[in-house]
Amino acid sequence: MPEARATAVVGLQWGDEGKGKLVDLLAAEHDVVVRYNGGANAGHSVVVNGERFALHLVPCGILYPGKLAVVGNGVVVDPDKLLDEVTGLVARGVDCSGLVVSDRAHVVLPYHKTEDALREDELRAAQSAAHTGEGVLRAGEIGTTKRGIGPAYADKAYRASAIRIGDLLRPEVLGGKVELACLFKNALFRGLGGRHEPVDPRVLTAQLLTLGERLGPMIRDTVYLLHEQLAAGKRLLFEGGNATLLDVDHGTYPFVTSSACSALGIGSGTGVPPQRIGKILGVCKAYCTRVGAGPMPTEQVNAAGERIRERGREYGTTTGRPRRTGWLDLVALRYAVMVNGATGLALTMLDVMAGFDEINVCTAYDIGGERTDRFPPDGHMLRACEPVYETLAGFGEEITGARRRADLPRNAARYVEFIEEAAGVRAEIISVGPDRVQTIVE
Ligand code: GDP
Repeated sequence: MPEARATAVVGLQWGDEGKGKLVDLLAAEHDVVVRYNGGANAGHSVVVNGERFALHLVPCGILYPGKLAVVGNGVVVDPDKLLDEVTGLVARGVDCSGLVVSDRAHVVLPYHKTEDALREDELRAAQSAAHTGEGVLRAGEIGTTKRGIGPAYADKAYRASAIRIGDLLRPEVLGGKVELACLFKNALFRGLGGRHEPVDPRVLTAQLLTLGERLGPMIRDTVYLLHEQLAAGKRLLFEGGNATLLDVDHGTYPFVTSSACSALGIGSGTGVPPQRIGKILGVCKAYCTRVGAGPMPTEQVNAAGERIRERGREYGTTTGRPRRTGWLDLVALRYAVMVNGATGLALTMLDVMAGFDEINVCTAYDIGGERTDRFPPDGHMLRACEPVYETLAGFGEEITGARRRADLPRNAARYVEFIEEAAGVRAEIISVGPDRVQTIVE
């Protein structure tokens, strides 16, 4: 059995758990940082020496000189966005020479964004025509970022209309593929209202070949690259985009994203088999947040929710839109730990909870009078779940200066222990502020 040399950092909730900070912390002791899912819809923010970096497609490891930062085959890549991000980082003095992109990763094309927008319009039209039965999605509910991520993954499954990053380096095959793809897309656009100009395959092919030239030096067979790194004794760090409850299979379907966001996506998204991953760190906030309209049993639309939002600065990084906030959901957390096989927790934003007299935690759901501690398989079913709370004593003191567990006030430590007990795994890392140093590792 080969030695397990890889670590994974995955979000256990609905995203924005602070994975960026964790990956940044752990990158110091790893040689290669790998993204395995999602696209430019993910994004982490990292604060280094007081300077904030927002990363979307580029793995956070790029902020450490000398590391390899790999965009794996499970990611869908918008070449314009990637090149813009690299240009922005280089302008701020970041060395991007360690950035590598998988030749198997799929390309997000302009027509994917058009398709995203047209499908959303169609959903809205269906709604006004009263197709609104139970279980039917409404416009806006899926929370698409309209960056073309869903349609790009759908094309990957369709195959005939898919373009991979490696194709951008092969003019002899790209033209034919783009022509076929445009045939499908233009037919689709005609069907969806016909308001959109047809895509000209020759123009698109020329644009893609130019992008291919610029991306060329970064494109590699990353499956062999990662296995060579493992064989050479290098340590790999996998960085999950989005989070477990948004996973296309294991999240609150259909209110999810279109990729495999949990640790289960690492194998298919990189070509590295699961037994090489020794440590799976599940990142979890000390409360819950969610963006978009999907179900969130513990949401607090009141002063408590408002307090969490203000103290946690829970506003979208690009849109500035307030995130939905609420108490910690231990039913969801236990489920996420189970599905990922998390070996430990990284509990973030504990500092945000200071100042509450009492803290509620959801320990079970009530569905029509029946109590359960199981997370339902369907997002619409989750809507019917009423949270059952246990109330713990709060802590008044600010804790951003704590560097050891012993520095935490008694009730804060008690809160952490309660979470660990419910999750069945230890909080190996406790984060008490956005900065690298505001961390307890014990
Ligand atoms: P990600 O998508 O999971 O990486 O999450 P984000 O990048 O959106 O991170 C959430 C935000 O919380 C960022 O602005 C971080 O700097 C910040 N952050 C991370 N950990 C903590 C923490 O323990 N306390 C506080 N107050 N902020 C944190």
